[in-house]
Amino acid sequence: MDDDNVKETKYCINCGEIIDKRAEICPKCGVRVAPPPMQYIQPQNNSDNSEYNTMIILGYIFTFIFGIVGLIISIYLLTRDNDRAKKHGLIMIIISVIFTLIWIFFASIMFGAFAIASNPYYYY
Ligand SMILES: [Zn+2]
Repeated sequence: MDDDNVKETKYCINCGEIIDKRAEICPKCGVRVAPPPMQYIQPQNNSDNSEYNTMIILGYIFTFIFGIVGLIISIYLLTRDNDRAKKHGLIMIIISVIFTLIWIFFASIMFGAFAIASNPYYYY
């Protein structure tokens, strides 16, 4: 065994087999010996982050302006296989529910006031 060959190897953390230094998974026992390279994770995250940007922005706009469309978009985002989309979808649903409750609250006050004003016998 020459020196150059020794430098290119390492021992598997699981079974102790001498394996290639650049190996991520031990060929003998199949156990991962190194974390996956960052360049495989990073571009995927970046593309995922921009993938639903339009839907997320539209979702927030519709959540505030036209609740039911915002709700549909938030459900769409929640069902995506994407953490960022899910997170924003969840925030939109919470905002939608709060806004809906506020609207119901004000609508019931308005309806109550209208009922009292239009019916002098309304005392209940
Ligand atoms: Zn091994």
